[in-house]
Amino acid sequence: MKLSAFGTKLTGESGILQLMDDLGRPFPDGVKPHRLGGGNPARVPQVEQVYRREMERLMGFHDAFEQVISAYDAPQGRHLFLDAVASFFRREYGWPVTPENVAVTNGSQAAFFYLFNLLSGKSPERRTILFPLVPEYIGYADQGIDPGCFVTLPARIEPDGEHLFKYFIDLPLVEEYLAAHPEVAALCVSRPTNPTGNVLTDGEIRSLAALARRYGIPLMIDNAYGTPFPNIIYPDRMYDGTGVEPVPYWDENTILSMSLSKIGLPTLRTGIVIAPPDVIKAVSAVNSIAALASGSLGQVLAEGLIRTGELKKLADNAVRPFYKSRLEKALDWTAEFWTGRNYRLHRCEGALFLWMMMDDLRVSSRDLYFRLKEKGVVVVPGEYFFFGLESGSPEETAWKNHPHRYSCLRINYTGNPDEVRDGLRLIASTSAELRR
Ligand code: PLP
Repeated sequence: MKLSAFGTKLTGESGILQLMDDLGRPFPDGVKPHRLGGGNPARVPQVEQVYRREMERLMGFHDAFEQVISAYDAPQGRHLFLDAVASFFRREYGWPVTPENVAVTNGSQAAFFYLFNLLSGKSPERRTILFPLVPEYIGYADQGIDPGCFVTLPARIEPDGEHLFKYFIDLPLVEEYLAAHPEVAALCVSRPTNPTGNVLTDGEIRSLAALARRYGIPLMIDNAYGTPFPNIIYPDRMYDGTGVEPVPYWDENTILSMSLSKIGLPTLRTGIVIAPPDVIKAVSAVNSIAALASGSLGQVLAEGLIRTGELKKLADNAVRPFYKSRLEKALDWTAEFWTGRNYRLHRCEGALFLWMMMDDLRVSSRDLYFRLKEKGVVVVPGEYFFFGLESGSPEETAWKNHPHRYSCLRINYTGNPDEVRDGLRLIASTSAELRR
């Protein structure tokens, strides 16, 4: 097969392909699996009960089910769902949004693919997306079709106590970069950040929004783990120590991406974009070309739950406590198995992962990943989360020397607790054998 530039780009080696392949591939006979790799959410019983109830309601109502499965929705999404989302955010947060501000895609992953390529690449000059804080979500890394359309800036790293650290956006550096690079087409952050569990504060988000407005570009916020749902955020663990709940942010210059994946529906592929109407029209146009329409079932199951606020209550009362208790167990096991070791975790403010830095290894995190895989432990090596480097650029030089690039692992702590505990034990013992 002779591939186009597009084909070459999308079929090459990529971190996300490796990660998704690891998720789906069976383990060799006799190897006990410890799946601490992908971003699969856990099954939260209260959430499943509610979707089951909604499904039963659908099945019990004349031919409602057949109607849902037999007709394509419009490429923007189901009108009732768009209206439910807009009404909820208008009512709860006073955002001036209508259904014209909402689109649905087959998962938020698809939304980012559309958006990055709508905004960056050749036009005819090269336009770029600036990620002001990396490490950032591995799933973005290969989404930009044109080479060099992603740029990242080094975050400030601050140690925090004996075994924690935290990344901070270097706002003056971002501003300096924007001033010198008019080709930047958008800023993009995930909040909470995958892989690190960082949650940008309301203040940081407001500052980024102000910068984006000043430079006439949109701010993209990936809220896949954020508030109001799934709300996998732990305010009492946040760095500022106030325990104050972060609030979701939107203004007419913001492209907010949400997802139903981490609140129980990863396989129904329901991503939600809240943005100005011209962005929504563009996303819908690409959706019609790439996919005709988005799947309907997730929208149908969640519509009433969003409209009434029940989904937000589920997030607050079931999803967050569930993940918090998994996190606390994982932190206790980490402290136990790594006793006496040189390691630091990023402060666990949200999302599903421990971002662990071990600076006593004589191998890279990728080597460690392969050794762990042989023992049935799947994690994600940290270097995949460092992307957006142009060869020879000052950013590349900064990153090459970045102390965390080859020494971090992303560990999903949300799976079966026995698997997570044994997995953490094996990571600790295997990495201990590989110390300098
Ligand atoms: N954004 C982030 C930060 C993620 O971690 C993920 C998935 O893990 C996605 C987006 C995409 O999720 P989905 O396509 O299931 O909505």
